[in-house]
Parts: sequence; C-alpha cells; structure tokens
Amino acid sequence: MVTRRRLLAGSAAAAFGLPAAPAPAAAAAPPADRPAPGIYRYRIGSFELTALYDGIWYRPIADKFIRNAPFAEVESALAAAFMPADKLATPFTTLIVNTGKKLILIDTGTGGQIAPSAGTLGDNLAAAGIAPSAVDLVVISHFHPDHINGIKDKDNALIFSNAEIMVPEPEWAYWMDDANLNAAAADLKLTFRNQRRIFSDIARQVTRFEPGKEVAPGIVTVPAPGHTPGHTVFAIHSGDQSLLVLSDTAQHPAVFARHPDWQAAFDVDGAVAVATRKKLFDRAAADRMLVTGYHFPFPACGHLLKTATGYEHVPVEWQPTL
Ligand SMILES: [Zn+2]
Repeated sequence: MVTRRRLLAGSAAAAFGLPAAPAPAAAAAPPADRPAPGIYRYRIGSFELTALYDGIWYRPIADKFIRNAPFAEVESALAAAFMPADKLATPFTTLIVNTGKKLILIDTGTGGQIAPSAGTLGDNLAAAGIAPSAVDLVVISHFHPDHINGIKDKDNALIFSNAEIMVPEPEWAYWMDDANLNAAAADLKLTFRNQRRIFSDIARQVTRFEPGKEVAPGIVTVPAPGHTPGHTVFAIHSGDQSLLVLSDTAQHPAVFARHPDWQAAFDVDGAVAVATRKKLFDRAAADRMLVTGYHFPFPACGHLLKTATGYEHVPVEWQPTL
C-alpha cells in the first residue's frame, strides 16, 4: 500500500515498483529565479492566435460580493476551487489575432496598474516576438480598467503607438456620459474617471463600432450586455474553424460557470449579465465550440460542458505544434 508518508519520504519510485532515479549530477544548477513566459499559440483556420498572460489579481471579496447568494455558499465555491477564502482568483489573458493581413489585440491588460502580480503583458509580447508598434488594431470588449489600462503606460503614452483603437459604441455612450458619472456611487466614480484618463485625450483616434459589426474580416462582434451595458464578445471565424471570445461573460469559470445564476457586485445589471451568460454558454456547450475567457485560467482556452447545475470549463490540451 502506498502511504502518504512513504511518498513524502521520497520513496515514491520504490512504492510504484519503478527503478530508483539515477544519482544527481554533481554540478548544482542555479535556479532561474524568474517565471517562464506566459504565451500560448494556436490556430483558427488560417489565423494565428497568441494568448498572452498579463498575470493575476486576487480580488478581496466580502459578504455582498454575490448579490443573490449567501456568503457561505460563495465561500464554499471558493474552497472547492482551491482559492483563498476571501479572495477571487482573477487571471488576465489578452489575445493577439494575426489574420495574415492585420495584427489585432483584443483587450489590453492591466497596464501594471491593478496589482503587483499583474502587468506581464509587455514582457510576454516581447517573449512572443511581437513589438507593440506592430499591432494594427486594438479592440476593446468593455471599459473596466483591467481591459483598457494597457492602452497607455503610467506616463499616459500610447503603448500600441500605431494601432487604431475600436470600442463598442454602447460602452462609450454609457461610460463617457457625465450624467451617469454624477449619478454613480463613489467607488464606481473611480471607474468613470479612469476611463476619462484613458480616452479623453485620444478620443479622435478611437473608432466606435456597433455590436454585430465586423471589426476585421473574420472577427464579428456580438453584443453581450449586463456585466457592462456595452460588453461585447467576439466570434472569430477562419476556414471551417471558429472561436468564441467570451470576454467577461463569466469571470473565473470555477466560480461563475459552476454558478451561472450568480450576480457579482461588479455587474452593472446582474440579471441581464446572468441571462447573457446562460444564452452564450448554452450555445457554446450545445455546439461544442472552442471558447476563451479573459479571466479563465491561462491559456484561457477550452470548452464548456453543461452540467446538472451549471457548466464546467474543460481546458485545452497544450499543443506542442501549431
Ligand atoms: Zn475583466
């Protein structure tokens, strides 16, 4: 019988009847002491996609975080997902789409302005061999800071200096309206002010798209309101393959796919967010579509299965070849 003590004692090989490991090499290898790059590359038809990790934020949460569930249920969902008891794991993954004609970035990461453990997009772009100046188009799903702050650096300079910036028209209309800012609660006012910091002095470089339109050949925008009024997802098609970019339809799937009815405090309209989530997830599960979510665990890409109570995210297998 394999006991925990025997495994911990380092006799796992013997316990499993395997030959003992060879003696270690005499020279000690110094630890690398830095993380490996967060890059995952895959293809959709003739498009080459690069998922780029921007890091993770452990968002502190309190009893009002889910508006329509008792906090004890939320705590047990976090425990079931091996998250800290009072923090929601919130990873960030941006997506580069190379259509062969254009290099397109969907959402821009935190710009290193949300948490010390996030802001690695620049390093990962460099590791992927992509210069920020080579990006032709930046497309934004919605105006929360973790999606738009990477448009600019801390000195307010554009990071993707040659890129056109495309944003959802309903998102612009809601957040750039001063009447909405004035009516907002104090903490939400910070969000409104952050959007003005990012967009006010570059408004003429920003193109607003109507949801449902293509932002580039093969990339169709789909309205997905609730999380924010103009929240948008993207259907990417090339050849006979497709990918649904779910943006923030659900945040971490171990919490929000398993509990699709949960309305989070950060949803502008929780009931509409839930209806949108179920509609898109039902379609993705029924059609066995490949999906990616901005706050899904890296590389953020996989499938959704419908379960008795919600959905389960099944991550892709890492492919060593394209
Ligand atoms: Zn987000």
